[in-house]
Amino acid sequence: MTTCTHLNQMREVKPSARGCEDCLRIGDAWVHLRLCKTCGHVGCCDSSKNKHATKHFHQTEHPIIKSHEPGEEWGYCYVDDAFFESL
Ligand SMILES: [Zn+2]
Ligand SMILES: [Zn+2]
Ligand SMILES: [Zn+2]
Repeated sequence: MTTCTHLNQMREVKPSARGCEDCLRIGDAWVHLRLCKTCGHVGCCDSSKNKHATKHFHQTEHPIIKSHEPGEEWGYCYVDDAFFESL
């Protein structure tokens, strides 16, 4: 059971870039991609060395990300540390 109260902060977002936009800017590589469900920021996961998706949360407090990997529908709320099987 999740008690996440942030689902109303999700929007119909358009991915901001084809890859992690912050890694692309600095010419670095990522492992997996995560999509911010509030603004469409594409960042890299915590297995990537730059962890841009988590940094984006700390900078913006946008709480919910969704996996941006093909065929993956799961999501995650940073504030509640809650996983969703599909978003
Ligand atoms: Zn939440
Ligand atoms: Zn990155
Ligand atoms: Zn965002």
